[in-house]
This record gives sequence, structure tokens and C-alpha cells, in this order.
Amino acid sequence: MFIILKKTKLIAVILGLVLLCAIISLLHISYSQATSSELEKKYIKWVDFDIPAGLMKEAIKLDVTSYQEKGSEHTGWIELLAYLGTKYGGDFKKYKPSHLKTLLKEINEGKTMTVMAAKLKNYPYYLEAYQAVLGGLVGEFEAEVEEENGKIWQKKYGLKAYSPIAKGYAYDDYDDFGARRDYGYRRKHLGHDMMALVGTPVIAVESGVVEVLGWNQFGGWRIGIRSFDGHRYYYYAHLRKNRPFAAGLEEGQIVMAGNVIGYVGRTGYSATENVNGIENSHLHFGLQLIFDESQKEGKNQIWIDLYELTKLLSNNRSTTLRDDATKEHSRALGFKEAIPKNHFTPKPGDKIEEKLESDN
Ligand SMILES: [Zn+2]
Repeated sequence: MFIILKKTKLIAVILGLVLLCAIISLLHISYSQATSSELEKKYIKWVDFDIPAGLMKEAIKLDVTSYQEKGSEHTGWIELLAYLGTKYGGDFKKYKPSHLKTLLKEINEGKTMTVMAAKLKNYPYYLEAYQAVLGGLVGEFEAEVEEENGKIWQKKYGLKAYSPIAKGYAYDDYDDFGARRDYGYRRKHLGHDMMALVGTPVIAVESGVVEVLGWNQFGGWRIGIRSFDGHRYYYYAHLRKNRPFAAGLEEGQIVMAGNVIGYVGRTGYSATENVNGIENSHLHFGLQLIFDESQKEGKNQIWIDLYELTKLLSNNRSTTLRDDATKEHSRALGFKEAIPKNHFTPKPGDKIEEKLESDN
């Protein structure tokens, strides 16, 4: 009897201790969670992008029409896409053309995007995400156009981003985002390859600042251009041996959308500079999203599948001319857009070697 009592007491003490430990550790976990979330800045860490090119084209048309109809609230194409994206949970395989028609009908009946979107909890995320991907592609600009009596400048509003491959040059591509790559170490392909002949002029897709220009082991001769708002880092790699870049192009320089920035080649996959390590010449075209500067380098980079976007941009290709004396190509028709005062500028001395996995 006495022993049994003792045993029960002992069990009670042990259970008590276990319970106490559990409470202490629970308190500790919730405390450390609170402190780490306080320290952690809130910004978008992942974006899936699969909006069909046809839908983007339709949305731009509606945006441009709405822009021309002054007086009523402007319906932006990114707002339209963010609205649909929210409805689909980001999965545009769910898209049907009737969805856009219904949305448009509601807008025409006087409902504004702001009012309709206010009901959707995740709309702010999709708006911010798609704004980061597409923010610089549509807007006001001035472009030279060819008329009977020569070239004239025209003020325009619409698609102001170009295909990365100059007009009149052939290229082949397919959706190769995420495909396996084995040079160096096994990893995923974080860009879009456009197969083209060596020497094909490479075009700046969007206006921005040349952030990096030079050699790296994976990308070979490559150019990195940051959008004025700092959210998009365009990456053009495997450029031509010996003469990779457009003459005079330098880091820190501002380039306009549609400018020739370099030439297709097959450099890269070598620690030695100026080596053709790639079998088939092509442009590796990449787009990294940056919501917080800490995302630029390091493990949690966001790269976008550019297949649909490249398809959209194939509607707008830059015409180039070749100077026979210098063999240099340049754009045939001028383009200007406003450069924001507080545009992104790369900090000198802040140049870290880019994370290798993006460079294939
Ligand atoms: Zn590639």
C-alpha cells in the first residue's frame, strides 16, 4: 500500500515536471516567433507568373481605350489582371475569355475597379506582384515614326517595351523555365532561352540603368539592367565573343527601351573570360523581381517565367540599322520616355558577384 502511494506521488511529480517543461518551451517558442517576425521585414517572397500573352494583349487594349476616354476613372491593365489573378488564386489556367467580358460589362455599368477589388482579400498581393512584373511595360512615351516626308516624333500611350531580339532576326523558343541544367551543379533554368544566330542584335526590353556589365562563369558576357523603379532586374547572357556589348555601353548608364545593347553569342560555362562554352548560340533572357534589396543576391531570389511575356513583346520589335564601317548596329527609330527623378541607381562598391544559379 505504502509503495503504491509513493509510486503515484512519483508519477504525479514527473507529470508535473513534464507539464512545466512543456509550458516553458511553448512560451519560449511564441516569444521567439514574436521577436523574429518583428525583425523580419514584410515583403513579397514569391510570385508565379503565367498570364497568357493573349489576355495581356486584351488587357492593354482596354487600358489604352480607357486612357483615351478622359473624364472617367482610368482602368489599368495591371488592375484588371490582378483582379482576375485574385479570382483564380494566381492560376491563369482557370481563365476563360468570358471572364474578361463580364468584368468589362461591370466596369461599363459604372462599377470601378477600386470598389470591386475592395471586396477581395488577396487583391493587394496580386496587384503588387503584377505591378512589379509589368509596371514598366505600358505608359506614355515619344516615338519616331516614318512618314512620307521623313521621320517625325509622336506622343504615344501604350506598350513601350520591346522584344529582346531585333526586328527581322529569326529566333526559336519554347517554355524552358525550370528545365534542368548541369554545368557546375544541378539546378533549375531560371530564364528564357531564345535560339538565334551569333551577332543578332540584343535589345533593351525596358528602359533602365545598366547595373552590371562584364563576365561571369555561368552567363559569360552578360548585361544586367535595372528598371527605374528598382523592381525588375533584366538579365541578358551568353553574348558574343570578342564584341559582346553595344559600343560605348557602360555600367551606370541609362538606356532606353528598344536600344541595341549587345549581340547574341555562345559565351559562358567557363571561369576564363571570353570563352565560347555553350554549344548553340542563344540569348539567355532573365527577369528577377526585387521587392526588397536583400532579395537581389542570396538564396531567395524570385525569377519569372518569361515565355508568355516574350510572346507579348514579339508584337513590338525594334528596327535596327547596321553601320558597314564599324559593323555596329543601332536603332532605326528614336524613343524617349520620362526618367523619374528618384530612379534606381546602383551603389558603387556594392557589386557582389551574382548568385550563380541564375546565370545559365
Ligand atoms: Zn538560359
